Amino acid sequence: MGFLGPEQTILKDLKLETDPRSNIKAEHEKYRTNLPNIFAAGDCRRGQSLVVWAINEGRGAARECDRFLMGSTDLP
Ligand SMILES: Cc1cc2nc3c(=O)[nH]c(=O)nc-3n(C[C@H](O)[C@H](O)[C@H](O)COP(=O)(O)OP(=O)(O)OC[C@H]3O[C@@H](n4cnc5c(N)ncnc54)[C@H](O)[C@@H]3O)c2cc1C
Repeated sequence: MGFLGPEQTILKDLKLETDPRSNIKAEHEKYRTNLPNIFAAGDCRRGQSLVVWAINEGRGAARECDRFLMGSTDLP
């Protein structure tokens, strides 16, 4: 939430790995977490940032979800 980082309840319930700043651990451009069917993007992944990054990561995460589900993707 805001500058405080993602709420930890769901992360802990799902056993999602976090980075040292308590954000969800997921590689940039891949957005995959330690769980195969969960992707993370935006502030919950990179920490509080700028909206342009949130938009960029949202598009990238959509692309990677498409690749995960379909085996390939045409999304940029
Ligand atoms: C006070 C403030 C000022 C800012 N000013 C600027 C600025 O001037 N310029 C700029 O570029 N950026 C600014 N930012 C940063 C920008 O707002 C964020 O980087 C951007 O909104 C991140 O987008 P996001 O989609 O990753 O996350 P968010 O916009 O935080 O969206 C996450 C969404 O997930 C929802 N959610 C959370 N948990 C759950 C759940 N369990 N179930 C369902 N939904 C859930 C939340 O309600 C929220 O709608 C500011 C941020 C803050 C806090």
